[in-house]
Amino acid sequence: MTLSSNENPFGPSPAAVAAIREAAPAASSYPKAAVTDLRERLAEEWAVTPGRIWLANGGDGALDYLARALLRPGDGVLVPRPGFAYYAMSARYHHADVAEYPLRREQDFPLDPEAVMPQYDGERIIYLTRPHNPTGSECAVADVETIAAETEQHTLVLVDEAYGEFSDRPSATCLLEERDDVAVLRSFSKAHGLAGVRLGYAIVPDAWADAYARVKTPFATSEIACRAGLAALEDDDHLQRTVETARWARKYMAETLECPTYDSAANFLLCDVGDGTAVAEAARREGVVVRDTSSFGLPDCVRVTCGTREETRRAVEVLNAVR
Ligand SMILES: *Cc1c(COP(=O)(O)O)cnc(C)c1O
Repeated sequence: MTLSSNENPFGPSPAAVAAIREAAPAASSYPKAAVTDLRERLAEEWAVTPGRIWLANGGDGALDYLARALLRPGDGVLVPRPGFAYYAMSARYHHADVAEYPLRREQDFPLDPEAVMPQYDGERIIYLTRPHNPTGSECAVADVETIAAETEQHTLVLVDEAYGEFSDRPSATCLLEERDDVAVLRSFSKAHGLAGVRLGYAIVPDAWADAYARVKTPFATSEIACRAGLAALEDDDHLQRTVETARWARKYMAETLECPTYDSAANFLLCDVGDGTAVAEAARREGVVVRDTSSFGLPDCVRVTCGTREETRRAVEVLNAVR
């Protein structure tokens, strides 16, 4: 079983699978109606105008669009360490300079003004992940607001909520009405189980709505992806089952793993196993694939995705045995 990429253990929403099948015969045409429909649907959901929804080929694609719209060569961005590698990659592709803000491990990796502000030097974009990958820690909305308020007007605080559905806290989208320096990223890859379809979006400040047409590729998402996304948004059963199982699994793992773990608000758990590479390799030999977090700068940890109940029990059994 693969518990290394934070994918949905239940697969895609069955409604999305049906929508993909239904859309298949029209695949020879360029995308059209579904793109508009999905933007409108998401705009309604987040109470913004459709122009502020930047649909893209995955959340990663939306990160690229934001970088393309905002960054000029030599601009700075600030990214978390440890953190999602693509922030820095995307910024560098757009010729920006990347600085990092370290998360305080001894305090379980909080993302807060205390972590960000000492490193801030007028950067154009600050990337915040909530819940955070790979630690599972979560920034409070009030802290996002403080960071936005304390940074300069030209600094955009980009709140990546790829794991937002798994959290008990409200989305940072509640800041979008008041502030014009916050954007939120969402993805269909995780809770909706559509990682292979590639669908994500950013919700941007009103002033940036028009820039989408200038930075996006002519067809930023596929008709099939948008139809799948529309169907997934209506499938509450699948979403609920996914989120409830992840909540159960992260608690179960924290209670039964014989190693220290970090509190997680997402669908994975960071586990302090001692030698991450060795443990990941040994677990793989037992058929359980977990993420060795050496590339995140955490060589003593592994990140374990929440599986089904059966998968999660097996993962715990194997990890406890191989350590
Ligand atoms: C998975 C993930 C994304 C987006 O993934 P896509 O599949 O491109 O939508 C964004 N940020 C973080 C932190 C992620 O883990």
